[in-house]
Parts: sequence; C-alpha cells; structure tokens
Amino acid sequence: MKIGVLAVQGDFAEHIAKIKSAGHTAFEIRQPKDIPVSIDGLILAGGESTAMKKLLHDLGLFDPMRELIISGLPVFGTCAGMILLAKRIEDEKENCFGTMDITVRRNAYGRQLGSFRCVDKFNGKNIEMPFIRAPYVTDTGSNTEILGIHEGRIISVRQDNQLAAAFHPELTGDDTVYDYFYSMIAGNSVR
Ligand code: GLN
Repeated sequence: MKIGVLAVQGDFAEHIAKIKSAGHTAFEIRQPKDIPVSIDGLILAGGESTAMKKLLHDLGLFDPMRELIISGLPVFGTCAGMILLAKRIEDEKENCFGTMDITVRRNAYGRQLGSFRCVDKFNGKNIEMPFIRAPYVTDTGSNTEILGIHEGRIISVRQDNQLAAAFHPELTGDDTVYDYFYSMIAGNSVR
C-alpha cells in the first residue's frame, strides 16, 4: 500500500515509521506535487490544527487534498487530524476539510493538564491511548460509526472511508488502529 502523510506540521514522522514497519510505503506530502497519481490512503497527523489549516491553504494543498477525501480516498486523522476532518468545531466559525459529520471540541480535556495515557477500547479491543491536548467528539451524524468511548466521551469514529481518533496510536507499540485502517484501504482501493 502507498500511504501519504500530511507533513507540514506535527508528528508525521511517527506515522511514517509505523506505516513502514508494517511493510507499506509511506511518503511525506508537503506540497501538491508530492501527491502521486496512485495513492491508497492518507494520514493527517496530530499537531496544531490551526497551524496545519493555515499551511494547507498557504501551500496550495487544501483543494487537492479535500478533493481526494471527497472522492473516497481512505483517510485517517489523529487528534489535530480529526479536527481537520470535522464538519463542526465547537466555538469556531470555520471548519477545515469538513468532510466528516462530527462535532469536535478542541483541547477538550483542558489546556495544561490535558495530556494523559489510558487503556481503553478501540473497536472492541483494549489498547494503549496517549492523549495530548486532545479533542473529543460531542456529536455525530447518523452515518458515523462510533468505534471508541473513553469515560463517556466519543474518541474514535468512522464514516465511510474516513477514520478519526482523538488519541495518538503512532506513539504506542500497538498496531490495532493501523491494521483497522489498512483493512479499510484493502476493502476500498481507490484509483
Ligand atoms: N490541541 C491541538 C489542536 O487543537 C491538537 C493536539 C494534538 O494533535 N495532539 O489542534
């Protein structure tokens, strides 16, 4: 599989290492010419969603990437990446890609003490989950499948070819969430 990782800001390098360790091809997307003709999946890493949004526009990546997502290319957003996909961001007028029918609350666990690790379920399986100034989901559309809830808050969701997690699976030794994404890709090859 060939998986592109948005590499303008945030912890994209950890995602690339994960993809490569599973034997797949990973590449950085920093500008439109980095998007190849054939691509199987896209990862939006954690970081700072406001900075990423600005860079996506400044670098001319916003339109081509949004088109890919809308065309059905499987995409996986972690933490800030989940915010980029969300149709609604609480207390903000504008979304970013806005392709996933969820409402997110940014820095939902508090700004300073909002980072923690826990073990909880993703798609029914217990895995380690690092949260770093994480959002959570406060509302979902009818077409959205909830894959994980931690202490009553929705933390992982899927809608068609889009997957989003509030935590950082790239910072653990567990591949469960990636394997889920790879099987999404395998079931829905694009182009
Ligand atoms: N707090 C960040 C934001 O709102 C997300 C943090 C993260 O990706 N670890 O964009």
